[in-house]
This record gives sequence, C-alpha cells and structure tokens, in this order.
Amino acid sequence: MVRGKEKVLKGLAVKYGRTLRMRYSRMQLLLKSRRRCPSCGALKLRRKVSGIWCCLKCGHEVAGGAYDL
Ligand SMILES: [Zn+2]
Repeated sequence: MVRGKEKVLKGLAVKYGRTLRMRYSRMQLLLKSRRRCPSCGALKLRRKVSGIWCCLKCGHEVAGGAYDL
C-alpha cells in the first residue's frame, strides 16, 4: 500500500516511526533545497546558521526562514 507522495530519506532506516521520519525528511529537503538569492538572482543561497542564509556568489546575507521547519 502506497501512502502519500512525500519522499522519505534513507538516513533513519526503519527507526523512530513513520511520522518522525517524514518530518525529518521534509526538514532535510527544505534545508538542502536550492534557493534564489534576492540580490543577484543566483541559485546559490545556502543556510549559514538558523535563520541566516548566505549567497555563495555575491556574499549577500538574508535573515528569515528559521521557523518554516
Ligand atoms: Zn547573490
């Protein structure tokens, strides 16, 4: 039986239950997803620390996104 269409990452194997694995996968995919820099438009925005995103191309720093997990 296939439930939902969300992708589940393999890092946690069969441990911790389905809900926590789904939550973990969603968070990881969001953290690693490509984001566009508001300054130069390049897809090089990376998370520096919680809530601070830094562009690898132009060095522009943006705050926000700390609570979308
Ligand atoms: Zn940039």
